[in-house]
Amino acid sequence: MSRKPSTRIIVALDYADQRSALDFVDQLSPDKCKLKVGKELFTRTGPELIKRLVDRGYEVFLDLKFHDIPNTVAAAVLACADLGVWMVNVHCFGGSKMLQAARRALDDHGGGTLLTGVTVLTSLNHNDLLEIGLDREPGEQALLLARLAKEAGLDGIVCSGREAGVIKDQFGDDFLRVTPGIRPNDYATKDDQARTLTPKQALSQGSSYLVIGRPVTGASNPIDALLAIKKEIGEDS
Ligand code: C5P
Repeated sequence: MSRKPSTRIIVALDYADQRSALDFVDQLSPDKCKLKVGKELFTRTGPELIKRLVDRGYEVFLDLKFHDIPNTVAAAVLACADLGVWMVNVHCFGGSKMLQAARRALDDHGGGTLLTGVTVLTSLNHNDLLEIGLDREPGEQALLLARLAKEAGLDGIVCSGREAGVIKDQFGDDFLRVTPGIRPNDYATKDDQARTLTPKQALSQGSSYLVIGRPVTGASNPIDALLAIKKEIGEDS
C-alpha cells in the first residue's frame, strides 16, 4: 500500500457502477483527496471496489449508516474494518448500547478505523420528527445525539458546517465534524442541498472534513474542479 495522505477533502463517489467510479479515480492520486463510497455504489459493487481503492492507497469513508441491534452493528463495522477502510458510520438513533458495541468492535479490531455518527438526517424537518414521535427541533435533537456519540466514544459526527462550531466548542476539536452540503462559490446550482457553505466557510466554521460530490464529480473537468477547491482551502502545495 502507498503512503497515507492527509487532506480534508472527501470526494463522494456517487456513481452507479464500478467502471464510472474507477474512470474518475484513475485520474486521481491518494494525496489529492479521500473517497466516500455510499449505499448505492457499495450495493452495486460490493467489497471488491473498496479493496481496490484501499489497495491503491486511498483513505475510504464507507458511508453505510448502520442502524440495527448492537450485535449486528458491531459485526458490520468489524467487516468494514477488515476491508481496511479509514472511516465508517452508524446512526446515533440506534442508541448508546449500539454505539458502544460498535466502538468496542473497532477497538478490539485495532486497525484504527474511525467511527462517526449520523445525528438527524438533513432531509428531516420538525414536522418529520413529530411524525415519528419526537417533539424537538432538528438542531436540538442533533446536539442531543452528538452528546450520546461523544459519551459512547465515537470519533465524531456527520454534521452541517453551520453546526460544526457548536459541536467543536462543546465536545472538543478531537471530536471530528464531517460536513456534506459543500458548494464552491463558482458552482451555479445547489442541487438538492438546502443549507450549503463554501469549502472555506465550512472549514472556518469548524468542519474537520468536507464531503464533496457533484461540484467535483459533475463538473465538466472533475480534476480541475477538485484542484480549484484544494487551492481555495490552501491544499495546493
Ligand atoms: O453531491 P453532493 O456534494 O451534494 O454530495 C454530498 C454527499 O454527502 C452525498 O454522497 C450524500 O449522500 C452525502 N450526505 C449528505 N447529507 C448528509 C449526509 C450525507 O449530503 N446529511
